[in-house]
Amino acid sequence: MRLRPRRDRRPRPTENSISVQGLTAQYPLPCRVSKGGALIACPECAAADDLVLSVDGDDRSESASFVRCPDGHLWAEPLISRRVGVELLESYVAAGKHL
Ligand SMILES: [Zn+2]
Repeated sequence: MRLRPRRDRRPRPTENSISVQGLTAQYPLPCRVSKGGALIACPECAAADDLVLSVDGDDRSESASFVRCPDGHLWAEPLISRRVGVELLESYVAAGKHL
């Protein structure tokens, strides 16, 4: 008699792939981000924590990425280009982090 163990696996669609083409994602910035001494913060309420970055895996342009603060303000952040956003997303996926 053969027993087949039931495994409760959560779906992990990109386990062995770091391709993020065709993927759009919103994920929290891992920490406070500064670039050239400028801290990225909401232009309306100055929130610098718990910011969420929007990424389009097909868009690696140098245009500004969209960032949203916890209060829901959305702005285009020139300190994070869309190319950098995609690279951040790839590093997230490669690290196996849940988005
Ligand atoms: Zn805000």
